[in-house]
Amino acid sequence: MRSPMEMPTATLEGKVALITGAGRGIGRAIALGFARAGATICCAARTRSEIEDTAARIAAAGGEAFATVADVSVRKSVRQLFATSAAAAGGIDIVVANAGVNLDHGKVEDSDPEAWLATLNTNLTGVYHCAQAAIPYLRERGGGKIITIGSGMGHKGTPGSSAYCCSKAGLWMLTRVLAQELWEYNISVNELIPGPVVTDMSDRDRGAGSVFQIDSEWKKTPEEVVPLALFLATQPAVGPTAQSFSLMRRDS
Ligand code: NAP
Repeated sequence: MRSPMEMPTATLEGKVALITGAGRGIGRAIALGFARAGATICCAARTRSEIEDTAARIAAAGGEAFATVADVSVRKSVRQLFATSAAAAGGIDIVVANAGVNLDHGKVEDSDPEAWLATLNTNLTGVYHCAQAAIPYLRERGGGKIITIGSGMGHKGTPGSSAYCCSKAGLWMLTRVLAQELWEYNISVNELIPGPVVTDMSDRDRGAGSVFQIDSEWKKTPEEVVPLALFLATQPAVGPTAQSFSLMRRDS
């Protein structure tokens, strides 16, 4: 057995990671964390100023990053994102499908169908668009990683959040289907469940019924999600795929 001193340290040296929703919250923390581990980062989101800020922070710390405005719910925009990013960075090895929204609030009978669809279009169809666009680039590199950012709410329903729960439940299934379609190309696909994280998105969802109200639950900063993302990004090609990795303390 290797002694701990001989264990390889997690490095992403020479890798290119494309991260959606890299302008703030969990996506930004993963972008900065992966850059610290040596990866070149392709940042994507709809707000130019935010992704340019993430890229600038990476550059200021001595890393390399590109920022491309994209809307994951629009297929053409996603295809352009991957083409532009691969051309700028020389390829793509890792995709973190992190962009997400929680727009639909209220019970199904009161909910807004447009907000329902917009949530599904970003959280589920957006990841489908990203995976479809990513596959040729990952195959070109002989393998890669797709990390989807799921939610405990996709494994356990929460009243008043049907769109978000259904989008993340679908995402968990998409993760498993993709993993089985892609294992022969050395592409691993795994879900990361962050549990409650203090971000803009969770700002308005910390009331009654929220996981933020569970005393024993770990309410974390976006930076505390990074080690698990790094773990998934650095597993060997024969490592885990079609799995869900959670940072939650309760059963989800
Ligand atoms: P956040 O702070 O609101 O960040 C969301 C990011 O996604 C932003 O950069 C946003 O940028 C981007 N985004 C949203 N819609 C997009 C679209 N259509 N196209 C491209 N980018 C888009 O949220 P967060 O809390 O970090 O959430 C990140 C992920 O973690 C989400 O998938 C969320 O469901 C998941 N999650 C969060 C928690 C939590 O407690 N915070 C818990 C479990 C899971 P623009 O608006 O500029 O596009």
